[in-house]
Amino acid sequence: MFDTLSDRLGGVFDKLRGRGALKEQDVRDAMREVRIALLEADVALPVVRRFVDQVTELAVGQSVLKSVTPGQQVVKIVNDALVEMLGGEQTVGLELDHVPPVVILMVGLQGSGKTTTTAKLAKLLKEKQGKKAMMASLDVNRPAAQEQLAVLGEQVGVATLPIIAGQQPVDIATRALQSARLQAVDVLLLDTAGRLHVDDQLMAEMKAVAAIASPKETLLVVDSLTGQDAVNVAQSFAGQVDLTGVILTRMDGDARGGAALSMRAVTGKPIKFAGTGEKLDAIEPFHPSRVAGRILG
Ligand code: GDP
Repeated sequence: MFDTLSDRLGGVFDKLRGRGALKEQDVRDAMREVRIALLEADVALPVVRRFVDQVTELAVGQSVLKSVTPGQQVVKIVNDALVEMLGGEQTVGLELDHVPPVVILMVGLQGSGKTTTTAKLAKLLKEKQGKKAMMASLDVNRPAAQEQLAVLGEQVGVATLPIIAGQQPVDIATRALQSARLQAVDVLLLDTAGRLHVDDQLMAEMKAVAAIASPKETLLVVDSLTGQDAVNVAQSFAGQVDLTGVILTRMDGDARGGAALSMRAVTGKPIKFAGTGEKLDAIEPFHPSRVAGRILG
């Protein structure tokens, strides 16, 4: 991911750094190329505009143009703006400091990687944070969704709520909460049903579950390969439920990077984790500065 963008930006900045002195027009020309590179990487237009305006304003300032290394200063300004666009210096972890069982609601479209990500998170919480986790699938639409989570649970060594055929999502969530309390579970992950697109029934079901489960985290799982669509999906979810963060899956793929780059600015929600493969330990906290570093080489 980001390879093409990284190459394009590398070319622009090599040119800038190669010159000793810089004129305002040089910076403006470079920014035009940056703008095109970001748009080609599928970054949302308003996000690109804001980014380019902000960087240009800082970069054409006298202190930059008159400095000894203007090219490098411009690159630093771009780097800082990229980090900010991706969410700032800090990684944003999970908010688990509450009376257990702390509920994490996993939402997203079918195929986004939601169920796999639920199991990845459960494994991470268990192994890296020593939490007693439990998972329950509320997906009664897709045949075998509940079984899929049970199989993943066995693979990661995390308990799943026993399946009762025919039970509806709100009742499953209620039973999961009771069971989690009885078993002194620290974190209960609820994997909600995915749909092929955002629809009213999905939203109503999610809200009903949220109302009884009072999640401390509501994490939207989106597929970074779907670019602008991923951002649109995130925007619709963010308008309907109280999202606390986003998890971008398939960051190991060869997406152009637009979803990752636009997500924070468009939704206002932090990207908390990145899925980096099919294996169940292929998940990492999202580090804006590392990602910016990768893009700028
Ligand atoms: P769901 O319908 O949203 O629950 O999607 P699943 O969890 O069933 O995932 C669909 C497919 O995507 C599975 O084959 C997963 O192994 C795969 N997948 C999930 N996350 C990632 C990821 O970060 N990288 C890659 N390469 N594959 C992933």
